[in-house]
Amino acid sequence: MGMKLACLGLLGVLAFAQETSTERDAARDVLHKMSDLETSLDVRTIVEKITVNNPARDQVAARAKELMEKELLAMSDDITKHPEIGFEEYKSIEKLTTYLKQHGFEVTMGAANMKTAFVARYKGNRGAPNLGVILEYDALRGTTRAFHGDQHSSQGPVGMAAAVAIAELLEKSKMPGSVTVFGTPGEEMMPPNAKTDMFKAGVFNGMDILVRSHSSSTTSRPAAGFGTCCLNIDGVKYTFSGAPSHQMTPWAGRNALEAVIHLFNNIDAVRSSIRPEARIQGVITEGGAAPNVVPDRAVADFYIRYPDEVYLAQVREFVDNAAKAAALATGTKVKIDNYGQDRDGIAVASLSELAFSYMKKYGATRIAEQPGKPQGYEETGSVSSEIPGIGFSAATSTWPNHTYEMETDALGEIGHKGFTVDAQAMAALLYDYLTHPEYRGQVKREFDGIKTLFDEYKSSLRKVYVKPNVVDPK
Ligand SMILES: [Zn+2]
Repeated sequence: MGMKLACLGLLGVLAFAQETSTERDAARDVLHKMSDLETSLDVRTIVEKITVNNPARDQVAARAKELMEKELLAMSDDITKHPEIGFEEYKSIEKLTTYLKQHGFEVTMGAANMKTAFVARYKGNRGAPNLGVILEYDALRGTTRAFHGDQHSSQGPVGMAAAVAIAELLEKSKMPGSVTVFGTPGEEMMPPNAKTDMFKAGVFNGMDILVRSHSSSTTSRPAAGFGTCCLNIDGVKYTFSGAPSHQMTPWAGRNALEAVIHLFNNIDAVRSSIRPEARIQGVITEGGAAPNVVPDRAVADFYIRYPDEVYLAQVREFVDNAAKAAALATGTKVKIDNYGQDRDGIAVASLSELAFSYMKKYGATRIAEQPGKPQGYEETGSVSSEIPGIGFSAATSTWPNHTYEMETDALGEIGHKGFTVDAQAMAALLYDYLTHPEYRGQVKREFDGIKTLFDEYKSSLRKVYVKPNVVDPK
């Protein structure tokens, strides 16, 4: 952490979160206010104050380390070696929930109507502050096999080490506080968008803070502000229905595949009318069964991306209209299903700088000294823009995410080291949050401040993305 933390934070925001000149113009005032907010919070001083020698905190972190070394690294290896893709993680959650039950947690399966989602509340919970720990466990879909190339296999063990260490502290000290573990399936897939659905179902209600870990090839933390790794996304499925007939008399049917081809061509035809930062890419998931039958059903699946959600709505309208035009032109019908959304999340420096400081203290390697792009601690933005939190990302591999090599590293020394660092840092930060009311106040002030500025940013964007006036033809 540098001397000019507030400054670096602001630079991070300026450099990364706003990707277009329109966004940077719209954000100018907001960024100045954010800089003032960060300066007034003086994160560096509070982090220095909190991280001074504290045997009680070190004991909780040491317990998390012990749990990792004695039992949980072995469980992480076991889950890595038995990968299960999203929403089919039955064996993985069996291992995780059995462990939680053995350590005094009451487990409720099937959160938000998803079979592999769960909530585990510690039986000795004693009111606020309410600490939440998010676990993921789904593997990636490979071409030959499922694999843990994103190391979600370790997230359960890491989160449980911290949660159990905190639960034991609550038991021993009788201090007020609660710890709840959330099993969130299918991070690599949508639909459904598991965390968004869980949030909408009220599963995270009452949480004051949420934490999780994630694999990384560097030890990093986000700058304060709002943003996302990979643009705001709408996941949309376009299903066309037609009528079948013999290939020799195709005029007797209506060709749904032709409609899908029109959809792609219609989009390409208007790309010049859409701001260039948009990413509109789709695949055809159904396109008929046999060449001698006119396809009466065809489906295209799109991820539509834009740096901000305000202009994204206009991009969506172009694509939806391209689909409607395709149906009209081919005499078919279209159903539009917006099955998922990823949005900007919020990152607070009060949490990320403390997390970063602990990751370094406990021996993290491959340190990225500068804060990264501001982004939330989970992929949907729906939770991280409503509840403050932090993702721990100590270096756990020398390879990039979503590779077979990263899966191998989960079983090796670099993985084991990084997971243990994450568990210790998570336990230490949760301890601090539990025991320092003024720190909790600071986190809340920063989060609320950024949230207000995020809203201000979106309303200033709404003013600049004016649509042209298209007159009626005479
Ligand atoms: Zn992931």
